[in-house]
Amino acid sequence: MAEESNRKKEVAHSLKSEMPAKEVKDGVEISNPLEIVQRLIEVAVNDLDLPEGTFEILKKPKRIMKVSIPVRMDDGTYREFEGFRSQHIDVLGPTKGGVRFHPKVTEDEVAALSMWMSLKSAILGIPYGGGKGGIVVNPKELSERELEELSRGFIRELEPIMGPEKDIPAPDVNTTPEIMGWMIDEFSRLKGKNVPGTVTGKPIILGGSEGRVEATGRGVVFTIAEAAERLGLQLEGMTAVVQGFGNVGSVTAQLLAERGVKVVGITDAGGGVYHGDGLDVEDLLRYVKEKGTVSGYRDFDGFSNDELFSADCDILVPAALENQITAETGPKIKAKIVAEAANGPTTPDGNAAMEQNGVFVIPDILCNAGGVTVSYFEWVQNTTHLAWTEQEVNERLHTEMTQAFEDVFRMKEQKNVSMREAAYLVGVERIADAMKARGWIK
Ligand code: NAD
Repeated sequence: MAEESNRKKEVAHSLKSEMPAKEVKDGVEISNPLEIVQRLIEVAVNDLDLPEGTFEILKKPKRIMKVSIPVRMDDGTYREFEGFRSQHIDVLGPTKGGVRFHPKVTEDEVAALSMWMSLKSAILGIPYGGGKGGIVVNPKELSERELEELSRGFIRELEPIMGPEKDIPAPDVNTTPEIMGWMIDEFSRLKGKNVPGTVTGKPIILGGSEGRVEATGRGVVFTIAEAAERLGLQLEGMTAVVQGFGNVGSVTAQLLAERGVKVVGITDAGGGVYHGDGLDVEDLLRYVKEKGTVSGYRDFDGFSNDELFSADCDILVPAALENQITAETGPKIKAKIVAEAANGPTTPDGNAAMEQNGVFVIPDILCNAGGVTVSYFEWVQNTTHLAWTEQEVNERLHTEMTQAFEDVFRMKEQKNVSMREAAYLVGVERIADAMKARGWIK
């Protein structure tokens, strides 16, 4: 007993003290997501006493493809865009994960994101490994024709390593069902046949699933409801702030409002809005469709990210990019529940501050797994040639997300660790079970 408790202390100690050193640029803390995910996996491998070699296999992707995509621009010139696709591990099934278009995408970021995808799928019990892709581009600077050419060019480069049983892309930051439509068309043309199971998040007419667009935000809200229940809190009447009003942030805000949560503050890349009585999320969505940002909405303007992280509220949802909850913002958080809708929104220092202040954190690899879950449902529908109703998709999503939450929560109670550590333990244990069953580790 005493030995076990010492071991737990050691693990907890190693989690905090062995976190990679942060880098500070222009006064802003930047953490390398690849180093963070590696360290967290290593701690879980040690805690689970897994056989030698487990961490060696898990610590980096089995394949990262780096490509250069030439695009003829509208003015007749040519530009080369750099892209990556990372495939972490295929021990549970084909690799799966989104493609992001962002000017700051890096190889390490894409690698880390693919590793988080492996853990997410394992936690949800989905037969996939982790994949992720990215193109270094600001899509807002491209015309629609240029964007289509870029998306198709990316698929031409990736074709040898893609397929419904190999690697399956999906939407992520700045990529949409329309882009998935171009991608599946390009892949099907190259193969000379329709292969809908190769890309998920497609338009419904091309075999996309009902409920996929809303799936990540819907899953986030399912986990928030579970957390509130465990904390003995009632969702109705609670207040929330959301960073990011894209696919995930906007759906999360909408569904929270539907459940009677007052969404008081929202920020996006263009600015932020705050209204203490609760924003009209539907009306704000209509505004954003027209203006492209929440900024300038009524007279609620002028809400910054700094104010968002220190806001007096019950629920905080980071739904934008990495490295947002940091040594600076973490200690200011007053929310009882932080739901990590984005991937990797929290740095080690930010995490330590939240732990110290007793914030209930729903870690990203659990919180935002609704997207990959409904992507899996889409793939199942494509491979069985069936189409499920939206109600069926949402009910199945609810079952899967609440089960995953329960599995992680039980691990947290059993091992007396944080929700984040518990999520890594559940994910790593399942991946290691498959590695053992295949004879990769003894
Ligand atoms: P998106 O491109 O639809 O939206 C991103 C939002 O973040 C936009 O509203 C943008 O304005 C905002 N944003 C960017 N920089 C910001 C800043 N500095 N401050 C405040 N807001 C800022 O992307 P998305 O698909 O909603 O993805 C958001 C996050 O969720 C990402 O971390 C992504 O990896 C993660 N995620 C997405 C899915 C999915 O199915 N789309 C699934 C799992 C996880």
